[in-house]
Order: sequence, then C-alpha cells, then structure tokens
Amino acid sequence: MSSSKSCHKCSQPACYIRPHGKIPLCLTHFNEAFVKRVKKTILDNKLFQRNDRIAVGVSGGKDSIALLNVLHKLRKDFPSELVVITIDEGITNYREDSVKYAKLVAEKFDLEHHIYSFEELFGYSLDQIIAIDAKTERSLGACSFCGILRRRALNIAARKAGADVLCTGHNQDDEAQTVIMNILRGEVLRIMRSSPTPRKKHESLVPRAKPFRRTPEEEIVLYCVLNDLPYQEVSCPYAVEASRGPLRDFMLDYQNKYPSTGINVISSADQILELTSKTEEPMNNNYSKRKIDTCPECGEISSSGQCKVCEVLNYLKKKESS
Ligand code: SF4
Repeated sequence: MSSSKSCHKCSQPACYIRPHGKIPLCLTHFNEAFVKRVKKTILDNKLFQRNDRIAVGVSGGKDSIALLNVLHKLRKDFPSELVVITIDEGITNYREDSVKYAKLVAEKFDLEHHIYSFEELFGYSLDQIIAIDAKTERSLGACSFCGILRRRALNIAARKAGADVLCTGHNQDDEAQTVIMNILRGEVLRIMRSSPTPRKKHESLVPRAKPFRRTPEEEIVLYCVLNDLPYQEVSCPYAVEASRGPLRDFMLDYQNKYPSTGINVISSADQILELTSKTEEPMNNNYSKRKIDTCPECGEISSSGQCKVCEVLNYLKKKESS
C-alpha cells in the first residue's frame, strides 16, 4: 500500500495510493480525503438534521471504531449529539474483547454509552441459540439468528436512547455485496428498502444512516492503523458460516482488477431506487411504500403478522421443549 511516490498534494512521501485514479496520498492528505468523503456522503444523502441526537452502533470492530472517530471530528460541521450503543450478542471468546474497545472509544470522547445483550433483551445469548439450533437436522445458521435479533436490538437501544437517527458502520464493500446478494437471491426489489437517505417509516423505528456507504473497507482498515485506533481484529467465530463469504472473496478479487466495482454497484442500486420511486403501482407498492404492521405478539413492527423476532423466539422455545 505504501510507495516511494510523493503525495499528489504536497512533497511528503505517500502512505497510500488510492486504487481508483491511482492517487498517492501522504498521511495528512489521506486523513483529509477520508473525512471529506464521509462528509460528502452525509451531505449528499441528508443523513443528519441540525441538532439530531445520533446513536452510533459501535461493536468494537474497525468500521464502527473509525466511524465514531470521524463523526466526532465532524461535530462542528453537523451540530448534534452523539451517543454510543453496543449490542453484546453473547459470543464467547469474541464479543467480550470488542465490547472493551467500544467502551474505550466511548470513554475517550466522553460519550453516553448504552450496552444491551441478546440475553437481557431476548432471553438467550447467541451461543445458547446455536446450541439449541444444533439439535435440529436443518440448522438455520448463526448469522440468520444474529442478523434478525441484532437489527431489533439496535432499534430498541436507539429508541431507548432517544435517538433521531441510528448510524451504522456498513462500508462500501458491505453495501455492494448486499446489492449483489439480493440479485442472486432473486430479490432485486429489496434494493428499494434501503434508501441512502434515512426515512421515518414508523414511529417505533429509528431511521438508519450509513456514512461509510461510499468508503471502501481497505481505507477504513488503513485509517484505523495510521491513526492508532485500537479495534477488535479477530473475526467472529461464526463468520465462516456466513453465506456471503464466497461472494466477498469474488468481489475482492474482481475489485483488485477493476477498482470502481464497489462504487459502481452502489450507484446502480441508487439508479434503480430513483427510477422505481417514480414508478406507479404495483411494482413500487410492494416495497418502498408498503405498509408496516405491528406484531400481535410483541407490539414491535413487522412486515406482516408475527414479526421475525417472535418467529425465532417461538422456534427456539419449541426446540428447547422437544
Ligand atoms: Fe453475527 Fe454472523 Fe456477524 Fe458473527 S459473523 S457477528 S454471527 S452476523
């Protein structure tokens, strides 16, 4: 990543060459460009309103640690209040460490920090869920449970913190993979659910914002390393089960040859979203404008009838008693 070239803005040695455009940058100008891109994403997508209370989901991994640092730097540009939320899924020998990094960064910036565990919210840790699920012939896999419960947990935490918006550290690579996953699953219209601009879809749902949506993962790692930001470097032990693993490898390989791939995929998704937002029913009606229901069991939001969280919890109770 480093080179003997000089920065294209000053005479300092470059520490990084941006693959797209082959632009050499020194540490100062890399940091400047990194923060500037996030600021542009916030402005272009109207992520924050003045004086918003912004909840930042911080797991302790590189993305969320870098995100909180950048948002803290940008506080004078976006007068707002930051509050940190962390979800502890209950993954032994993994989450304990990342929670430690989340606590460190919240303390460093003297921010309110709310930590919730799966166990206190849902009655089970992820490890307990996996142990129950392992008794079945057709296991659903850790990431399926984790994704459903963490989404709910983050929303509950952000709502209890009185947040106007919930920021997550999803980066350009995550976003591009999600678009391709939706296409591969035959669910291209799901793209319409993920507008880059936070929208209040329901009073109990805190709108989501992704300031790193246009920032490549590679630059986030470099930002943490160059700025000495400690983060959890060990991967989740269940990550090997994640279905997007092979796609991730493929896209990284493809992106090495064609550096604009990630951003092109995201731009394509934005074009589809823009086009379909002008489309009359019935296509658009199914997704972006669809009605949000309330789950009859827990009262939280649901796309129809019983919500996914109650489905999961009932499934686990049944498996436990069988
Ligand atoms: Fe959860 Fe899967 Fe991510 Fe681990 S890899 S934190 S189980 S979604």
